[in-house]
Amino acid sequence: MPQQTPEYQTHERTLNRPVHFVGIGLHSGRSAAMVIHPAPSGTGIQFERVDVAPGKRIIQAHWSNVSDTRLCTVLSNPMGVSVATVEHLMAALAGCGVDNAVVQIRGSEVPAVDGSAMPFVRMVESVGTRAQSRPRHYAVIRRTVEISIGDSYAVVLPDSVPGVTVSINFADRAVGYQKCRIELTPGAFNSDLASARTFGFLADVQPMRASGRALGASLDNTVLVNHGSVVNPEGLRFADEFVRHKALDLLGDMSLLGARFVGHILAHRPSHRLNSSLLVAMLSEQNALEYMTAADLLGYAGSHGGRTNFRRRAHTLAALVNPVRGDR
Ligand SMILES: [Zn+2]
Repeated sequence: MPQQTPEYQTHERTLNRPVHFVGIGLHSGRSAAMVIHPAPSGTGIQFERVDVAPGKRIIQAHWSNVSDTRLCTVLSNPMGVSVATVEHLMAALAGCGVDNAVVQIRGSEVPAVDGSAMPFVRMVESVGTRAQSRPRHYAVIRRTVEISIGDSYAVVLPDSVPGVTVSINFADRAVGYQKCRIELTPGAFNSDLASARTFGFLADVQPMRASGRALGASLDNTVLVNHGSVVNPEGLRFADEFVRHKALDLLGDMSLLGARFVGHILAHRPSHRLNSSLLVAMLSEQNALEYMTAADLLGYAGSHGGRTNFRRRAHTLAALVNPVRGDR
């Protein structure tokens, strides 16, 4: 099969028209109404909590505003106003090529919809996007950066094609060890990741609810696993839907970089905490990232002899991603 090349859009993009959603939050169980508005170049993705006082409403979708990563990614502004479970929406906006948007939300958590990014993708695609005046800048990974937290680890590597390799390992045999490698060529996000749903284990439901979490979770927005079986009557959307969802979460969290990354990310047992720590590590490591326009990138991809090198290195690193029995 011929190698597809990624689509390096030359300019920032926004939506053509606003799109509306209403739904309940996965953790809060509360209803939230949300409108995604087009926004000028340079805005980035901004959340606007229309249910709080003016002057405290804006929360920039930026890695520096991540305030909690225990179950989902929560963003907070310096006034302590927050918005939770941003990751699927953020992944959808990045996947649809939206650089600038204002997400007005009445409520503290992004609606779960079906537990994947696909409903957001469909809504954005229903209005389409348009190019804006400002050239888009890409965050090109120039040096290997790696981090680990407990049994989880992540490595970013230079590559001329953006992509992710994710592996997970759960004790429940309905999930088990799964690994996926996705190159973000045109259409790959929509076809391979966007519809993968969030998941949970029946045994965790009562303890989570008792502590005020997962209050909005249901079979409509979560794949529920119980002792080796999927409880949802419709079954899975992909045989390896679980690891694909982890890749989706990773891309949503990576979009908090504020620019699209160009490179490859390997992550074993990723969590929102690992993803967020990886961003901090990439930004703290000197010369790990270089910002380039699409025109610069064409030169970079053309002259980048590192593609073969990358494959060898990725292979070596991937060999380290071994299943560990009982790992979860
Ligand atoms: Zn998720």
